[in-house]
Amino acid sequence: MSAAELPEREGMDYDVVVVGAGPAGLATAIRLKQQAAERGTDVSVVVVEKGSEVGAHILSGAVVDPIGLDALIPGWREEADAPLTVQVTDDHFYLLGPAGGVKLPNFAMPPLMNNHGNYVGSLGNVCRFLAQKAEALGVEIYPGFAADEILYDDKGAVIGIATGDMGVDKTGEQKPEFTRGMELRGRYTVFAEGARGHLTKKIIAKYNLGEGRDVPKFGIGLKELWKVKPEKHKPGLVQHAFGWPLDSKTGGGAFLYHIDDEQVVVGFVVHLNYQNPWLSPFDEFQRFKTHPLFKDTFEGGKRISYGARAITEGGWQSVPKLSFPGGVLVGCAAGFVNVPRIKGSHNAVLSGMLAADHLLDALAAERNHDELASYEAAWRSSAIGADLKKVRNMKPLWSKFGTFLGIPLGALDMWTNTFGFSLFGTLKHGKTDAASLKPAKDCKKITYPRPDGVLTFDKLSSVFLSNTNHEENQQVHLVVKDMALQKASEHDIYAGPSNRYCPAGVYEWIEEGADAPRFQINAQNCVHCKTCDIKDPNQNITWTAPEGGGGPNYPNM
Ligand SMILES: Cc1cc2nc3c(=O)[nH]c(=O)nc-3n(C[C@H](O)[C@H](O)[C@H](O)COP(=O)(O)OP(=O)(O)OC[C@H]3O[C@@H](n4cnc5c(N)ncnc54)[C@H](O)[C@@H]3O)c2cc1C
Ligand code: SF4
Repeated sequence: MSAAELPEREGMDYDVVVVGAGPAGLATAIRLKQQAAERGTDVSVVVVEKGSEVGAHILSGAVVDPIGLDALIPGWREEADAPLTVQVTDDHFYLLGPAGGVKLPNFAMPPLMNNHGNYVGSLGNVCRFLAQKAEALGVEIYPGFAADEILYDDKGAVIGIATGDMGVDKTGEQKPEFTRGMELRGRYTVFAEGARGHLTKKIIAKYNLGEGRDVPKFGIGLKELWKVKPEKHKPGLVQHAFGWPLDSKTGGGAFLYHIDDEQVVVGFVVHLNYQNPWLSPFDEFQRFKTHPLFKDTFEGGKRISYGARAITEGGWQSVPKLSFPGGVLVGCAAGFVNVPRIKGSHNAVLSGMLAADHLLDALAAERNHDELASYEAAWRSSAIGADLKKVRNMKPLWSKFGTFLGIPLGALDMWTNTFGFSLFGTLKHGKTDAASLKPAKDCKKITYPRPDGVLTFDKLSSVFLSNTNHEENQQVHLVVKDMALQKASEHDIYAGPSNRYCPAGVYEWIEEGADAPRFQINAQNCVHCKTCDIKDPNQNITWTAPEGGGGPNYPNM
């Protein structure tokens, strides 16, 4: 049935429509309600979330800088259901070689790297807490609904979103349970989709929001949650490591956080501008856990969850223009991660709050669907700008000079920025992550050890622990634009890196049979990390939203 023949969508009208119930979207919604009440008025706010519940798609570290939560919900620490209860007690940095490592002295670290006063815990649980606060204030939250389409008026301004149709089978035919999506129309629409939001990507392209800014940059972050033996658990211990198993040319590193309830978070980030198509971020992560300085933590423990998510790394110079007719970008949709601190959740909350204040001014002035230029003008001189500006050269220096020279230069730059100046100005990132791969023939093949099933694992048993679930009989949500190009380039030149960068085993080149090589997409395993949308060397793969509610079901990631 063509779009014109489909039954009409039902619609609802709000003052503000928010896409995504992460910390940024929820902070926007809460602040709108709080400040409207302060001003003796009210605003109607709706939040759509593609996860089956709030928190189901949230994956972070997380060491949380409470600056955002303190501003949004003063007194949150005293609440009976406070989502963060463990403060950082010890903070260690290591440079690793294969057999050992050097612990870097804390006094050498610029003050901004200090984690004392921060909390360790689950960002998913923070979002669940924020969602309760939002609902108590009258925000409508609809989990299980992916925003799938942007609605525009005839002048090209955003006027809301539509959720996806449900009940369309693999071939595009309607199933008996077919239901049309809903139109959620807003005077303003806030895109809070997190890193590489699929609607955000369209908005950035349509309004050319990246003009005059550096290219966006990303990493892939993989994470496991372990229940460890009581004697191995040191609540509040935070450890970061870089170096082995990555080579000096490949940026990234590991994190271990001891949170509550004898749980230890272990994770690994690989910068997506890596060059060797044979590299597998998942297998580098598995290797990291075998390092002599860290493997003991997991001895006798049990892995209870797994997941992966892209993280924004472009920072200050890559943040696109945040406002456009009818809407704004907040949080990691804009790319507010402080890369050396591996923290973005505080800026997600702060940017949501900042946007809310500018939205309220516009609503109070009876404005609709126009551009909130004042929000775009405000962020660089806000706490978010101050946080990102000081660290703006770390990532470009690391990319250009590698781990052993780039990190010390980055640290020097962070020190001088602490005193208000930089020897480097503002460095550029160079190529996009998609353009950084070298042909496979020019790179050394990497052979990874087989998993032992105790400390190291394969992808499929890992995806099982992410509780990922998609309705199988639906259209594949990973769209390959040109299959001939995928074969001629991704397969023939780059030796199929999708099979290795995807942390969920979604992509396979089948080398047997009459139609070999055949690109197989196991879309039901997708954990929505967005890496394929970023790293495919030809930008030939596009992540689109599957039916709402599909994807991982993270408990407390
Ligand atoms: C491995 C890793 C480790 C990290 N460690 C830390 C840390 O220690 N400390 C820290 O502060 N930060 C950390 N970060 C960064 C932090 O997680 C982000 O900065 C933060 O989550 C950004 O919040 P957000 O609300 O912008 O986006 P997200 O948290 O990504 O939330 C976006 C939400 O929107 C939903 N959504 C997306 N698209 C749609 C759509 N079209 N329709 C409906 N719903 C949609 C998603 O399902 C999700 O729930 C880490 C990130 C990663 C990946
Ligand atoms: S298919 Fe893409 S978005 Fe899904 S898990 Fe794999 S790399 Fe991530």
